[in-house]
Amino acid sequence: MAAQRIAVVGGGILGVAVAREIVRRDPGAQVTVFEKEDRLAAHQTGHNSGVVHAGLYYTPGSLKARLCRRGVELLTGFVADRGIAYEECGKLVVAQTPEESARLDGIEERARANGVPGLRVLDGEAMREVEPQVAGLRALHSPHTAIVDYVAMTEVLAEDLRAAGGTVRLRTGVARLETRGSEVHVQVLERDASGEVVCRDAGEAFDLAVTCAGLQADRLAAASGLSSDPAVVPFFGDYMLLAPSARPLVRGLIYPVPDPAFPFLGVHLTKRVDGEVMVGPNAFLSFAREDYRPLGVTPRDVLATAAYPGFWRFSAANWRAATREVRTAVSRRWFVEEARRFVPGIGAGDVRPGPRGIRAQALGRDGTMVDDFVIERRGRVVQVRNAPSPAATSSMAIAEHVVDQALAD
Ligand SMILES: Cc1cc2nc3c(=O)[nH]c(=O)nc-3n(C[C@H](O)[C@H](O)[C@H](O)COP(=O)(O)OP(=O)(O)OC[C@H]3O[C@@H](n4cnc5c(N)ncnc54)[C@H](O)[C@@H]3O)c2cc1C
Repeated sequence: MAAQRIAVVGGGILGVAVAREIVRRDPGAQVTVFEKEDRLAAHQTGHNSGVVHAGLYYTPGSLKARLCRRGVELLTGFVADRGIAYEECGKLVVAQTPEESARLDGIEERARANGVPGLRVLDGEAMREVEPQVAGLRALHSPHTAIVDYVAMTEVLAEDLRAAGGTVRLRTGVARLETRGSEVHVQVLERDASGEVVCRDAGEAFDLAVTCAGLQADRLAAASGLSSDPAVVPFFGDYMLLAPSARPLVRGLIYPVPDPAFPFLGVHLTKRVDGEVMVGPNAFLSFAREDYRPLGVTPRDVLATAAYPGFWRFSAANWRAATREVRTAVSRRWFVEEARRFVPGIGAGDVRPGPRGIRAQALGRDGTMVDDFVIERRGRVVQVRNAPSPAATSSMAIAEHVVDQALAD
């Protein structure tokens, strides 16, 4: 390895996995992770469904398809070695109509092409042997789809990094990266003695930088003189939680058949490793990138979305989908109705409000959602520009891919 000093921006699962992968390959490398929050995994990594996706839906040959399967392989070995909470609870993708049943065949074909193991298509009776309370015509069963604690996984990846001499600097936001000659200088935002936020040089120069800034990926790129395209548009996803008495209605993961007319999947049921069962998430435009309160608004984020032509083109093409999502965003009854299509035994009184997650969705200027992972190198900076689900599942494989790019030359 030529480069010895590497800065990683972002202490979500990707930044930490990348930093660990660098020191694993080159124990002599000096790696520093810069994270603006006071803890790791504060954003998407700590606000997701906790599913270890098996790779059912992704276009064969895409980065998502390849890195998901490799990610599962690396993740399962890692969590078993390190005693991280993990359960192979399995997933049913349930068709409710003949049209969905036809689409289910397409998913099965993709899943087989992606090498997902153990798949079976089940009819009503067989489906209920897996999930006794489920309703539907047919289902695709992926018995090895699993659940995990991604926050715990991030912490353990960080333990490895620190044990190998790497550094994590919390409460240190990166304002921009400046490439000067063969060095990258990191300008950080820190509070001075009077509590004022000041921008200063991090005090050390780096040979390379890797950005894994999630919801801030486009802003960090633009501030560093790199392209702000694709832009990040935040979409929140609210969850409900089943009451303890209703949890036995769901054994694992119960999902709808994705509808190509809708950019997001729709409400589904997900068991968590702590025994809770989550219903959701829905998906609606968020007025803040990192504010999880129900009415959270960050004016700068709203203005950025409103000023981006790709957002308006996306909205014009997806207004039908938005009406489905807005119903679940404003009405608990609609939310429960969506879940009851799959598990009719869930009653209105069986749910209580749960957490919110906010997705960093990359949108192109033409309004298309960027589906695949986007990882690109510009000079001495490797940027993760789009890492939506299943990026947590794929994190250790994305780290391998990023480090290959970072070290290519
Ligand atoms: C609702 C929801 C459900 C999901 N469910 C799943 C799932 O079940 N399975 C799955 O595999 N994936 C799932 N995902 C996707 C998954 O959570 C993300 O793909 C993954 O967490 C991305 O990791 P990350 O490290 O890129 O981003 P993040 O976890 O968002 O981390 C980015 C970090 O960068 C920091 N940062 C940003 N800018 C700066 C800066 N300038 N200076 C310093 N630090 C900075 C942030 O504070 C943050 O900690 C879900 C996502 C959401 C939102």
